[in-house]
Amino acid sequence: MTPNYDLSEEHELVRRTVRDFAVERIAPVAEELDREHRFPYELVRELAELGLMGMTIPEEYGGAGADTLSYAIAVEELTRVDSSVAITVAAHHSLGTLPIYQYGSEEQKREWLPQLASGEKLAAFGLTEPDAGSDAGATRTRAELRDGEWVINGSKMFITNAGTDITACVTITALSGEDEVSNIIVPNGAPGYVIAEPMPKLGWRASDTRELSFRDVRVPEGNLLGPRGKGFQQFLEILDGGRISVAAMGVGLAQGAYDLAAAYAKERRQFGKPISAFQAVQFALADMATEIEAGRGMVYKAAWLKDQGRPFGKEAAMAKLYTGELSNRAANAALQIHGGYGFMDESPISRLYRDQKILEIGEGTNEVQRMVIAKHLGF
Ligand SMILES: Cc1cc2nc3c(=O)[nH]c(=O)nc-3n(C[C@H](O)[C@H](O)[C@H](O)COP(=O)(O)OP(=O)(O)OC[C@H]3O[C@@H](n4cnc5c(N)ncnc54)[C@H](O)[C@@H]3O)c2cc1C
Repeated sequence: MTPNYDLSEEHELVRRTVRDFAVERIAPVAEELDREHRFPYELVRELAELGLMGMTIPEEYGGAGADTLSYAIAVEELTRVDSSVAITVAAHHSLGTLPIYQYGSEEQKREWLPQLASGEKLAAFGLTEPDAGSDAGATRTRAELRDGEWVINGSKMFITNAGTDITACVTITALSGEDEVSNIIVPNGAPGYVIAEPMPKLGWRASDTRELSFRDVRVPEGNLLGPRGKGFQQFLEILDGGRISVAAMGVGLAQGAYDLAAAYAKERRQFGKPISAFQAVQFALADMATEIEAGRGMVYKAAWLKDQGRPFGKEAAMAKLYTGELSNRAANAALQIHGGYGFMDESPISRLYRDQKILEIGEGTNEVQRMVIAKHLGF
């Protein structure tokens, strides 16, 4: 078969639509949202109207019924302009909503998905704990079944989207027995479920990151997601899918950094010419463009494999690792091209530079990706 490297008309339409939205609606407010650490409620409402909050959820549950490749393109285009908005969409979709679609009973899907997939409400996924990060299986949060209810005690750390005014629920991993991990949906507002203030952070400043604690939180037995004791396997699958989102963010951030650097290089003059006339600057831009092309191909391949129903875990981890590191190099080179102006808060590249680092940490650090890849290679 001859490979076809053209995207379909539908995929190109997604790209154009999201790019136009990002440029017209997000770009003008991104710096202000970041500076004020302000959650983008207004933009989330508009993204919901565009169908971007539940892209791959079938239409019968209120989603857009798109494929994973369309979703990856959308996340890439959002990140090209602003990472805080992109992670709000990606965490809601891949971590908050997809687990309910993938593992929920028909009743749970009918209860939760319409409000989540339409973007009216947000959802979160709470895996990380203060003492269980890369070693996510070391979960200490406990869920005990008592009189037809799960009684939950424990805490979660760094959870995206958990505490906004429009968050409906968080799905958490908890020990439901000795060496038995299960996933349980906890609605916001449940007595004993305490959501701390947003955590101030280096980047993704307009996104919502919280520490959560559970003190004798009672939820119905029916809030168990999927079979009891399958939580470990489920969260590994969720992370595989989530890595496509974060890898798409890596490509988008690198592309955004390239865009800013290329434009600045043409405009900034030193030694009587635009700095883009100097070969050192051209080479930096050529390296960025080359790596972005490679990274984009890796992300699209992982998304395509997932859409074909084929194994994609190795490719998703490789794409996440590669684009995390490439976005680091791209943000660094792009800021260098901006010189001292790039170091100033008012310069958009400084925001991209700060937003980049988490792409090498969230959804598994670079080291964890290498561990996952090595395992796929048989080591
Ligand atoms: C802004 C933000 C948003 C997040 N959103 C969410 C969310 O929505 N839901 C959620 O569940 N989590 C979320 N996280 C958590 C994130 O997934 C974790 O931070 C990440 O998995 C790393 O865990 P840790 O921070 O505990 O680091 P640690 O696991 O303590 O790692 C510290 C260092 O040790 C290294 N290391 C650890 N083990 C090994 C090993 N075996 N070999 C080699 N090196 C190793 C790591 O690579 C890293 O460099 C978020 C984090 C941030 C910062």
